[in-house]
Amino acid sequence: MRKGIAVSPGVIIGTAYCIHEVFVDPARGLLEPHEIVTEIARFENARKRSIEDVRSLQKKVETQIGKEAAAIFAVHESILMDTVLVGKVRAWISEERLTVQAALARLMDFYRTLLEQSGDDYLRERVADIRDVVERLTSYLSDALRSDSGAMSGPTIVVADELLPSQVVMLGEKPVHGIVTQAGSQTSHAAIIARSRGIPAVSGVAGILRQTQTGDTIIVDGRDGHVIVNPDPEALAAYRKLEREFVNLRDELAHNRDQPAQTKDGVRLELLANINGVADAKSAAAMGATGIGLYRTEYLFLTHSSVPGEDEQLEIYQAVLAASPNHCATIRTLDIGGDKTVPFLVRNQHEANPFMGWRSIRLSFEHPEFFLTQIRAILRAAACKSASSVQILFPMITNLEELRRLRAFVRRAENQIKAAGHEYGKVAFGMMLEVPAAAVVIDQLLTLVDFVSIGSNDLVQYLMAADRDNPNVSHLCQPLAPAVLRVLHAVVKSCDAAQRPVTLCGEMAGQPQAFALLLGMGLRRFSMSPAFIPSIKELAHHLTVPMAKQLLAKAMQLNTTRKISNMLNKELLMIAPNLHPILMR
Ligand code: PEP
Ligand code: MG
Repeated sequence: MRKGIAVSPGVIIGTAYCIHEVFVDPARGLLEPHEIVTEIARFENARKRSIEDVRSLQKKVETQIGKEAAAIFAVHESILMDTVLVGKVRAWISEERLTVQAALARLMDFYRTLLEQSGDDYLRERVADIRDVVERLTSYLSDALRSDSGAMSGPTIVVADELLPSQVVMLGEKPVHGIVTQAGSQTSHAAIIARSRGIPAVSGVAGILRQTQTGDTIIVDGRDGHVIVNPDPEALAAYRKLEREFVNLRDELAHNRDQPAQTKDGVRLELLANINGVADAKSAAAMGATGIGLYRTEYLFLTHSSVPGEDEQLEIYQAVLAASPNHCATIRTLDIGGDKTVPFLVRNQHEANPFMGWRSIRLSFEHPEFFLTQIRAILRAAACKSASSVQILFPMITNLEELRRLRAFVRRAENQIKAAGHEYGKVAFGMMLEVPAAAVVIDQLLTLVDFVSIGSNDLVQYLMAADRDNPNVSHLCQPLAPAVLRVLHAVVKSCDAAQRPVTLCGEMAGQPQAFALLLGMGLRRFSMSPAFIPSIKELAHHLTVPMAKQLLAKAMQLNTTRKISNMLNKELLMIAPNLHPILMR
């Protein structure tokens, strides 16, 4: 049994499908002589498609952002056409019988050693370009999952080093029933998407790729982070029981979708959904959400092969609104950077601390045309027939000056829409509260916003100085930490005093223990992965506001995360015993 970080609840037993990424131990034995021709063809096919990609990206980026930003794709094209580089890969496949993945990994090592040793900054930066190109090539090689996984028996459990957000989005359309990764954490975007798909997932299981082979039986316990490869009959029987319990509970709870979201003593709640696109908006409606509390638009950009234009974005936002419960959505502007990158926006330079660097609105401010395009598309979507209420949400606000600047951006976008003869709708203007500095001066910031959405995933990592994607510090990155609870309580109180609606849209909103405490703090608006809505609604039906306040008071007396978590577990098991399969152990 291996222990990792539980990132998406549920228990599933299935067949492992290992994705050996190009950068992670790609050795798969040598090719048979008769496989060489096919392998070279795979490489050439991936190369051809990658060249097409970068050419069309270059054109699009040039017209929409500018020549300078587009130049990077010319560099990528020249790498893909480089005869020395291509010749090396071909030779390693044909003469040394390496797979394409293994050949690309060797290529990466070769250039890393060569270029990093040179004292020249320019050459050192080319390593990142080669890596980018190799990643693009690899993405065309991993089509295997599509064809192979269908032939496997039983539910498919993907085992990988780390899944990129775009890969997980793709997986959502495939029959994937569980995910185990070596890297990643609770709030990595891959984990967030796994949760939104209701796929049990465990991250941070070091070395699992070495211990697992495609075809192995594997158990994923996404409640407590356990993974068992080739279990013995006893473990298998025990987990089959848990798996059944979990499925039964999920089926049972699905019936509460039409019941009102309210506490046992009748206090109404907004249980909203976090979504990444139209498919999630549909599942939000199916799960009984009352609206969309957070639409992360970055996936539109991450999964798009080029820059989506204003009309294209407008169409997608309209489709999301049409599919959303009550046609209400809070649309967040691009939150790129940190663990998410799009090649046409991110500078080609390495940042030592990307989460504290050039991300989110900091990056949008530097691409005003691009940013305005998105704001215009959101404002125009608010005018469409299918929209009943649209909010615009700006991520990673740090100070008042940013809010002033953003207000000016919105005014400018409105003027541009008018000048173009289009219509726009009224949208509420909101900020994400996820930077500790903003929490400290929240009273000042509230004068400039219509509403607040607390991004606890980031707030916790910044407050605890613990990277949300680093398994080595996940013990620190805890939403139930006393320091976090104090800050959250203060923010909710400030918003209430200023009569500004406040929602919490980080992952903790969907966690039973945290939900109970937030309810006790006075929070009434929660936004979470759609898959969690039924269980949180069920828990709310068991809790009164005085009970939640009491739990909060008890928690505030305790001085460690573990004590708080243990206390809540015990209490919640008594309050809502039927939820035991999802209450984390
Ligand atoms: C958050 O930080 O809590 C949040 C909801 O935003 P994201 O996870 O997309 O950074
Ligand atoms: Mg965030």
